[in-house]
Amino acid sequence: MQNNAYDIIIIGGGVVGSMIARFLSRYELKLLLIEKETDLCMGASSANTAIIHAGYDPLPGSLKAKLNVRGNAMFEQLSQELGFAFERSGDMVVAIGEEEWPNLLALYEMGKQNGVPDMRLFDADEVKRREPKINPSAIGALWAGTTGIVDPFQATIATAENAVMNGATVLFNTSFEDFIIEDGQIKGIKTNRGYFRARWIINVAGIYADAVMHLANSNPDFKITPRRGEYYVFDPADVQINNVLFPVPSAKGKGILVTTTVHGNTIAGPNAQIIADKEDTATTAEGMQEVLEGAQKLVPGINPRFTIATFAGLRAMGNAPCKTPGVDYHADFLIEIAPEIHGLINVAGIESPGLSASPAIAEYVVELLKDAGENLKEKSDFNPIRPARPRFRTMSHAERQALVQTDPAYARVICRCENITEAEIVREIHAPIPATTYDAIKRRTWLGTGRCQGGFDMPLVTQILARELGISELEVSKRGDGSRFLFRRSKDIQEGDHEA
Ligand SMILES: Cc1cc2nc3c(=O)[nH]c(=O)nc-3n(C[C@H](O)[C@H](O)[C@H](O)COP(=O)(O)OP(=O)(O)OC[C@H]3O[C@@H](n4cnc5c(N)ncnc54)[C@H](O)[C@@H]3O)c2cc1C
Repeated sequence: MQNNAYDIIIIGGGVVGSMIARFLSRYELKLLLIEKETDLCMGASSANTAIIHAGYDPLPGSLKAKLNVRGNAMFEQLSQELGFAFERSGDMVVAIGEEEWPNLLALYEMGKQNGVPDMRLFDADEVKRREPKINPSAIGALWAGTTGIVDPFQATIATAENAVMNGATVLFNTSFEDFIIEDGQIKGIKTNRGYFRARWIINVAGIYADAVMHLANSNPDFKITPRRGEYYVFDPADVQINNVLFPVPSAKGKGILVTTTVHGNTIAGPNAQIIADKEDTATTAEGMQEVLEGAQKLVPGINPRFTIATFAGLRAMGNAPCKTPGVDYHADFLIEIAPEIHGLINVAGIESPGLSASPAIAEYVVELLKDAGENLKEKSDFNPIRPARPRFRTMSHAERQALVQTDPAYARVICRCENITEAEIVREIHAPIPATTYDAIKRRTWLGTGRCQGGFDMPLVTQILARELGISELEVSKRGDGSRFLFRRSKDIQEGDHEA
């Protein structure tokens, strides 16, 4: 049982849990991160707009505002240290018609109160110069130069990988089930894979963070409501815009935007539907129509004919009151040492701008631990660098030739739409956090995301996974249990063995 004892256990392998693991791995602590799924980044962190918001949108004085602005400023250094894709693109909140201008000015004022740097107002000519495809009725925009775009998969996985390089342990297929409570204090957790002891448990379970804290009788009135957002992904060959374009926000949220991504696609979304089922990430005909109309309000030329994929993500909308005096606002982040019981930190209600705020949330959690008397000693050998892996698709011809000299598998292109090679796949299977499913390879390499959506590469990746993991092709799956590609060898099917 001794090797099941840790200093700190983190429940949840989204971007926030991964950031917390990485920031804590700087200290002499035995860390465990558990994730119920087969990989990191399978919750909200996998299905969002991938924008590092400037911070003009959250209510001044809220934790969301403070941690958004701080987190945004941390992304440059983090992306350099950890080798993930991030671009400081800037964004425009575009007013369509005179009636939207007062709300745009209110947003500008909020941004100033939140301490957002590099904001400006553009007139209609400047907006049209920067984005020729914009709605001709645009009368101006709020420009925020600090907004960025990021690859949220890479950001999550690279961050957790750096934590592992610095001694943290990550366990997949490991689901938190209950707390071990002795003498009124939390001493560990019970999972589907046994008991793990620790002095602190950090609850970063995304949409399930309310259920986790309730098992320790913490915040019984705190509730997470799933708010679904649906998206279109367009073929970059047919739809190209230059900017991150927001509408002027409404009471429902930031609104449906049209944005470019670090991979060159244009995406449109999300809408905001309150739903009951915490697993329902299906897209709906009505929702997609709403997204299309919202997108066309900004860029009228957007045509759904050029869609290559659709997806939906669930925001973990909490009801934690904002602590700003005099403000009646019930959707702030809840980040606290649980007041009811020793040994639990809750990081809950982390809806947007949670991706942007994620490094600042991790910093905040470190401070909470110090305030609680944890004597955090820095490791002398902490290594903040996780080198980026070679990306064949973005290399010059000369760079590609040099790479192929080091490993001929870089010459075998497996995904033709996105130009992903066999060597890149093999490296991910043998990485510090190994990719063991098709989707895990996809998250790390961007393979299968182009026009053919994996139709060509899937059988080849199945062969490579089986070979490298030493398993049968029949055992290779898309995302874990219940998603195998192959059920039996066709040669093994006997006469009369066909099932209806
Ligand atoms: C539609 C949409 C658009 C968004 N757009 C943006 C944006 O552009 N910019 C931005 O800053 N933010 C955005 N966000 C918010 C952002 O995506 C989230 O705030 C962020 O990803 C939350 O990360 P997380 O780690 O807290 O949660 P998750 O990524 O949901 O991770 C929680 C993890 O906990 C695991 N887990 C749950 N229960 C258990 C258990 N019992 N045992 C073990 N593991 C468990 C889950 O499997 C999951 O992997 C958006 C969100 C959505 C849904």
